[in-house]
Amino acid sequence: MAIRFTNVCKSFDNLTVLSNFSYTIDSGEFICFFGPSGIGKTTILQLIAGLLLPDAGELKIEEKRIGYVFQEPRLLPWCNVADNIELSLYAIIPDSRQKRLELVNTLLQKVELESFAKYYPAQLSGGMKQRVALARAFAIEPEILLLDEPFSALDHKLKDSLRSYLQDLLSWKPCITIMVTHDLDEAIRLGDKILVIGDRPCRILYEHIIEKPREKRDDLFIFEQTRLIQSFLNTKIN
Ligand code: ADP
Ligand code: MG
Repeated sequence: MAIRFTNVCKSFDNLTVLSNFSYTIDSGEFICFFGPSGIGKTTILQLIAGLLLPDAGELKIEEKRIGYVFQEPRLLPWCNVADNIELSLYAIIPDSRQKRLELVNTLLQKVELESFAKYYPAQLSGGMKQRVALARAFAIEPEILLLDEPFSALDHKLKDSLRSYLQDLLSWKPCITIMVTHDLDEAIRLGDKILVIGDRPCRILYEHIIEKPREKRDDLFIFEQTRLIQSFLNTKIN
């Protein structure tokens, strides 16, 4: 057990987003939440991050270091690429600038942006900015990585490339990963478990487990799995 929701409730004014929501996420899992807009996916991530508190119920999280990547890169525009990453390192490496810079350099190598260290966010493309955001999330060696539709603003080719940077970073520093996406293809390419969520209050409608290792999931496999999940969605809708 690493993250356990037990009867968690969360409302905003009169809107009940979660009511007695229970689910357990184990160490090492890559979970994808798949569901329509406005259902409560971001709320779940924000509860895990501690940015929101449950109104009732219990949320137990054993891990402390949490990395978060949002749909937009959320870089500081007045800081260059290296500084944007270094800023998140003060908390874990307060005393040695040298060590911080070494780690920044390693992270930039991982996302192939070493030569852009001194560039400002406005000088980068959308995909490059999101690579910096990924590198920044890994800077603190997260035990939990939260990804809130991180690639949804990018085109198909860039998504592929960002996914491959993400997979490299995860093999370098494995961690529990929880990703929100409304791209089924992406969920099947990356996740160990796909949680289809819906209804109001939000609940898990279907849990789809993928045992095949990520590197062995070819296009045919993705197609077949998509059909399986789609057939569930169709019976649910009809
Ligand atoms: P999703 O990420 O699935 O699109 P969210 O978790 O962001 O959905 O939001 C779920 C619902 O809660 C939405 O209807 C949204 O408008 C509402 N909501 C989210 N955050 C707040 C907030 N801080 N104040 C009021 N309503 C909110
Ligand atoms: Mg959201």
